[in-house]
Amino acid sequence: MHGFTYTANAARVVFGAGALRHLAREIDALGARRALVLCTPEQSEAAQRVATLLGERAAGIFARAVMHVPIETAREARDEARRLGADCAVAIGGGSTTGLGKAIALDSGLPIVAIPTTYAGSEMTPIYGLTEGGIKKTGRDARVLPRTVIYDPELSLSLPLDMTVTSGLNAIAHAAEGLYAHDGNPITALMAEDGIRAIAKALTMLVNDPQHLAARGDALYGAWLCGTVLGAVAMGLHHKICHTLGGSFNLPHADVHAVILPHALAYNAAHAPEAMVRIARALGSRDAAQGVFELAVAHGAPTSLRAIGMPPDGLDRAADLAATTPYPNPRPLERAALRALLQRAFDGTEPRH
Ligand code: NAD
Repeated sequence: MHGFTYTANAARVVFGAGALRHLAREIDALGARRALVLCTPEQSEAAQRVATLLGERAAGIFARAVMHVPIETAREARDEARRLGADCAVAIGGGSTTGLGKAIALDSGLPIVAIPTTYAGSEMTPIYGLTEGGIKKTGRDARVLPRTVIYDPELSLSLPLDMTVTSGLNAIAHAAEGLYAHDGNPITALMAEDGIRAIAKALTMLVNDPQHLAARGDALYGAWLCGTVLGAVAMGLHHKICHTLGGSFNLPHADVHAVILPHALAYNAAHAPEAMVRIARALGSRDAAQGVFELAVAHGAPTSLRAIGMPPDGLDRAADLAATTPYPNPRPLERAALRALLQRAFDGTEPRH
């Protein structure tokens, strides 16, 4: 075995159907008394339920979380936290809501309790994003890592099936890139492989029965593992392309991940054979890229950038952006091959090695 360095991001995880009932206990364990509850407008009802559970420990609800954390929203939420004298934030929702909690924590050090309801994995990472003047900047800071995460599969029962599938593929993408990360290690590899396995298995059950609680539990367990990998090791080409497409062309986050992943894996396949074996094994497939593509097709996920709103005249710019900024990736970044990758993703054709 090669030598390695592994930094674990410490977070307390409370997992299980109905685990939300432990929220007040977890707030007490943090020594906090006044929680600001965060959510998107669409999840106000869930936030209200959380506030009711918290009783006098709830300082208020801020229900204006939106995708990519605009700096204006972050400022409003920070002001609201100060005005209410909040000493912790409870973020119930997906990556957008967790992201808003992180923006508050970055500024104030307020501890976050995250209650994820998608599979995006942000709750397990010290990575934050803030959008200012149309440009999303990301960074790492230990202060933004949620202190406690409550994974309650009952809360993801309401996640629409299309988002369930794309969000699951988003999680798989973290693990897949983690398996060929230059700073990967045997522990993150274990988590990555089991995370992919759990999510792929769960998605197959959820397409037939989105209310299958045990499958929701498996998916959330997988999301936890995949999110942990995302927080621990460096991501490569796939995340870079998704970040570029999401930020520059305002495409939906999880959909972009679903479309790009098979093509990014095909691009890297010959340069990361061990990772490909593990990804394929976790998917129960003979080939990693093809396995992800087939999973997306079989579960009704979008497979083409065209279908999710990518302008055809943006492909050259996207290829330039993907090829110029340096980032770690098993295969060197070749402009022509990246442009061809983007064309295949645009057209929705099968991945090509
Ligand atoms: P999201 O948080 O934007 O949620 C999408 C929509 O689904 C929202 O309207 C939300 O309220 C709704 N929703 C969420 N859970 C639901 C449920 N159980 N039932 C019904 N509706 C529900 O989507 P996301 O994909 O989870 O997060 C995307 C954002 O998170 C992006 O901005 C991305 O960059 C960020 N992200 C950050 C990290 C990180 O480590 N910093 C990791 C992953 C994603």
